[in-house]
Amino acid sequence: MARYTGADCRLCRREGEKLFMKGDRCYTDKCAMERRPFPPGQAGRKRPKESEYRLQLREKQKTKRMYGMLEKQFRSYYELANRQPGITGENLLRLLETRLDNVVYRLGFGTSRDEARQQVRHGHIHVNGKRVDIPSYRVRPGDLVSVAPNAKDLLVIKGAILSNERHTVPSWLEVDVDKLQGSVLSLPTRDQIDVTVRENLIVELYSK
Ligand code: SF4
Repeated sequence: MARYTGADCRLCRREGEKLFMKGDRCYTDKCAMERRPFPPGQAGRKRPKESEYRLQLREKQKTKRMYGMLEKQFRSYYELANRQPGITGENLLRLLETRLDNVVYRLGFGTSRDEARQQVRHGHIHVNGKRVDIPSYRVRPGDLVSVAPNAKDLLVIKGAILSNERHTVPSWLEVDVDKLQGSVLSLPTRDQIDVTVRENLIVELYSK
């Protein structure tokens, strides 16, 4: 699956908000948003013209980048969300949140979604006791997500657990840090999804 390989911090600066893509660094004063909180490039400090379209576009770009996706894949999530019953924007966020890489990140087994995605790709994650190496795999209520037995001693996972101790696991998930496993208690509702996204703007953009 194609993915963005440029500088992550540029994306935060472009969106004017921390997207937490670099693990521990995001919580230190080395974070580029602490040092240079304006868009990259020569015109970065100029105030861009506000328009409805611009707001919608930026919200979509921000969300897409936060979850580490390119346009085609993100658009396909929107199409799926639109076909589901309920509120499209909420459906979209729920689909993004229930991706296996995001769940591994939320459980604290990776310091960023990118790192969690690598762990899934490298076969370090099991779902219900079986290896699943597809980051977009969608978890369901009742699923048990665990670190593979042969990966439990990996420094990257131990480091992630230690650094993520300060983060709260969302209430739709339950983690057992000693066993390096977590359960999916339910599908997340909007108030359980801790992202500063105005999903209605994304829906407005795509439904034009
Ligand atoms: Fe964004 Fe993290 Fe880079 Fe800060 S350190 S700009 S939050 S990716």
